[in-house]
Amino acid sequence: MSYDIAVIPGDGIGIEVVDAVEPLLVDTAAAHGVDVSTTIFDWGSERYLDEGSMMPEDGLARLESFDAVFLGAVGHPDVPDHVTLRGLRLPITKGFNQHVCKRPSYLFEGVRSPLRNYEGGDIDFVVYRQNTEGEYADVGGREHRGFENEVAVQASVFTREATEAVVRPAFEAASERNGKLTNVTKSNAQAHGMVFWDDIVAEVSEDYPGVEVERLLVDAASMDLVRRPDEFDVIVASNLFGDVLTDLGGIISGSLGLAPSTNINPDRSSPSMFEPVHGSAFDIMGEGVANPLATVLSGALMFDHLGETAVATAIETAVAEQLADAAAPRTADIGGDATTVAVTDDLATRLVG
Ligand code: NAD
Ligand code: MN
Repeated sequence: MSYDIAVIPGDGIGIEVVDAVEPLLVDTAAAHGVDVSTTIFDWGSERYLDEGSMMPEDGLARLESFDAVFLGAVGHPDVPDHVTLRGLRLPITKGFNQHVCKRPSYLFEGVRSPLRNYEGGDIDFVVYRQNTEGEYADVGGREHRGFENEVAVQASVFTREATEAVVRPAFEAASERNGKLTNVTKSNAQAHGMVFWDDIVAEVSEDYPGVEVERLLVDAASMDLVRRPDEFDVIVASNLFGDVLTDLGGIISGSLGLAPSTNINPDRSSPSMFEPVHGSAFDIMGEGVANPLATVLSGALMFDHLGETAVATAIETAVAEQLADAAAPRTADIGGDATTVAVTDDLATRLVG
């Protein structure tokens, strides 16, 4: 098979990790007889600073014909975060109906969790985050700017279609995994949108009698992800809560530098997008020391989505073996002192020889 992948390195460490990982993915696929051709798009904050927009006006149309989009991260110290996010990532996830943001959290053997007494494999859950609306809907505004009575309104949006679009695959995943789904909301305080969300979870649950549904408010869920992370299997959550809980899931599994992410268009009418959970990391950008493994694992999830499971499995196995190997290079976030490139070079040796 052959695939055309749109690659958007973006900003900061997004560029560093994508530069290192892109050839690794192409070469690994080739070693399995899968032909991947990539087209690099230099969209991001430098473009914004030069031309006034993160991507061209017809950006989505240019991406539409690709089999998948592979993104690094966006975010620049000189550009407000809401400009970078709303100028690139959100238009793509929303425009391509990438309703499902699936983010696994897995504690690999050889990686230390900041939580005591958890070993490789003990933390193993996946978050299904609603990805196109909720708290990240672009509904609201500011009025009376600069005056004493200045006001800002930010509305959340929950639709039946887009809620079901994430709840159903979460139930599917739970029925294929350990049969447990945790629904995380805040429906005591958000009595319209989130009670509606709970109603949809209850409706869909009728189609999955084998799945046990646990309901947690997001504050309690945050606590329990620290107290008993081993008891979670599949979590379904709104856009904001899923975003927050997956940084938590990343760090309890060792590092945000190991946390992959997918933005899935469930009916495959447009490309899906694959990226690490992390951002452009101002504090380490330019140093060449970012952990590339979140991006590598996002690549594995991309091949899995494309149906190239042998390539996906090879990549995941090589990452697991590298992390379990005390002599292998590792970056500072997981206790080593290796560079980004040293880690991907070591993986290349494992994957393509
Ligand atoms: P961040 O994820 O960039 O970094 C958080 C912390 O984790 C930092 O200390 C960073 O050094 C560390 N970290 C992250 N990835 C790492 C890696 N691969 N290896 C080693 N350490 C890693 O979050 P932030 O600092 O809140 O945001 C920085 C910028 O990124 C902001 O502009 C923000 O808006 C943007 N951002 C973008 C995305 C995205 O593009 N999807 C996601 C999150 C944040
Ligand atoms: Mn995030």
